[in-house]
Amino acid sequence: MHEWALAEAVIATVIEESRKEGLKEVTKIKLKIGELQQIETEIFEFAVTELAKVQGVGLAKMKVEMDIERAVFRCRVCRNEWGLGETSGMREEETEAIHLAPEVAHAYIRCPSCKSPDFEVLQGRGVSIEYIKGTG
Ligand SMILES: [Zn+2]
Repeated sequence: MHEWALAEAVIATVIEESRKEGLKEVTKIKLKIGELQQIETEIFEFAVTELAKVQGVGLAKMKVEMDIERAVFRCRVCRNEWGLGETSGMREEETEAIHLAPEVAHAYIRCPSCKSPDFEVLQGRGVSIEYIKGTG
C-alpha cells in the first residue's frame, strides 16, 4: 500500500504548510509525480482525497490535481540528455519493466548518442507538492 503511505505524507505536509500560511481551508493542491515513480495515480488520487476528508473541515473540500513529470536522463560520458521515449533500442516490454521497477532502469537504458550505460536521472523521480491554495 505504497500509494496510501505516500498520500499520508502528502496530507501531513499539506496540514503543516497550511498552518504555517495561516489557511483555514485548503481548496486545492497540485502534485507533481515523477514518471519513474512506482505509483498508481488513480489509487494515489483516491487515497489523498479520502485522507483529506477525514482530517476535519480544513481539507474536506480540497481538490487534488496531478502532473506527471517526464523523466530526463543525462549521459555522464557525452552529456547528452534524453527522455524515456527517446531511449534507443527499447522494446515495449522493457519500457513496462521500467515503469514497474525504476531501479532496473539502469539495466536497460543506454545513451542514445554514445550507447554508454553510465547516466544520471535529472528528473522524473518522486512526488512533490507544486502548490497549496486555500483561504485564510
Ligand atoms: Zn552519451
